[in-house]
Amino acid sequence: MNENLCVTLKRRPEGNPVAEDFELRQADVLSEGVLCRARYISLDPYIRGRLSGRHLSGPIAPGEALNSEMLFEVLEPSNGFGEGDLVRGFGPWQHVVRLPAPGLQRISEKIAPPSLALGVLGMPGLTAFAGVRRLLKPKNEEVLLVSAAAGPVGATVAQLARLAGARSIGIAGSEEKCGWLRQSAGLDAVINYRREDLREALDRECPNGLNMYFDNVGGDVLQAAMERLAIGARVALCGLMAQYNSDAPPPGPNPGLIIKARASVHGLVVYDHEDLRSDMETQVSQAIADGDFSYKEDVSEGLESAPEGFCRLMRGENFGKALVNVG
Ligand code: NAP
Repeated sequence: MNENLCVTLKRRPEGNPVAEDFELRQADVLSEGVLCRARYISLDPYIRGRLSGRHLSGPIAPGEALNSEMLFEVLEPSNGFGEGDLVRGFGPWQHVVRLPAPGLQRISEKIAPPSLALGVLGMPGLTAFAGVRRLLKPKNEEVLLVSAAAGPVGATVAQLARLAGARSIGIAGSEEKCGWLRQSAGLDAVINYRREDLREALDRECPNGLNMYFDNVGGDVLQAAMERLAIGARVALCGLMAQYNSDAPPPGPNPGLIIKARASVHGLVVYDHEDLRSDMETQVSQAIADGDFSYKEDVSEGLESAPEGFCRLMRGENFGKALVNVG
């Protein structure tokens, strides 16, 4: 335990974050709480908002430790946890730390491999599950479009819609992502928005418009989807990848498009849907076991790789749930 490194914020990023915005420092273990060793760090886009001091989960200021949801191994028995237990909780990006017991949850055995507790069987999976089951409610033969489709949120949305009988269409930014979405995740159609004109591709793949759109991106992708809403469409607004790195507010989509389509638009915040977690874990882990559901993880190795792993995520270069395997 001589080297107990922690990733801290050196300065607030401007635009795309770069590895130099972060600093590794020697950290204390703290004297109270359950002694835990970090196993996986969850890299999530919302962290970018915290680095600029503008996310509802609170700011991270220069000099402070980065923190997010993580997977820990308990190092000594304490508060009902046994040595070797795997637990999920919020903590600093550091090797060894003591954490308050009430903030730690033991990982259910149906979550295998355990890293899925941070991905499709964790917060991103719950976001998708709530959006599909509670907001969009797909019906047979309806058309669902989802952006950032190869990420843990998007790929779960797309596959839950497919399993519900909808025609599931994904937008993603590389041929590798599109190939996986077609072949492993079983989507009905995939659009690589970096390779072809998005509007032409949408007209080809959804000639009768969209019954559902799940937006992870905002910006022009949202605008293009809104232009194609079918009568009675449902839209879940979940994420804003196109603008997290920018300080200026973007020109928004035209609300007239919502009116014309008599569409319902829902803002989605995962924290409102905690009651669905157990159903999500049961149904998605069963679908994985049945071979009906695919997932991808994008794992950086070692705590030192966490800043660059996060920067890759914010540049859109991750393919699958972005994680750091701490050891
Ligand atoms: P992710 O999909 O693993 O990563 C983000 C992806 O966004 C990138 O890989 C990239 O893939 C895509 N992207 C599209 N436009 C981009 C741009 N302009 N710059 C950078 N990337 C761009 O992330 P995730 O964890 O599944 O999250 C997806 C979205 O859901 C995020 O917006 C996140 O903030 C949101 N979210 C919201 C809630 C909530 O409660 N509302 C909860 C969890 C997550 P391509 O190659 O396909 O472009």
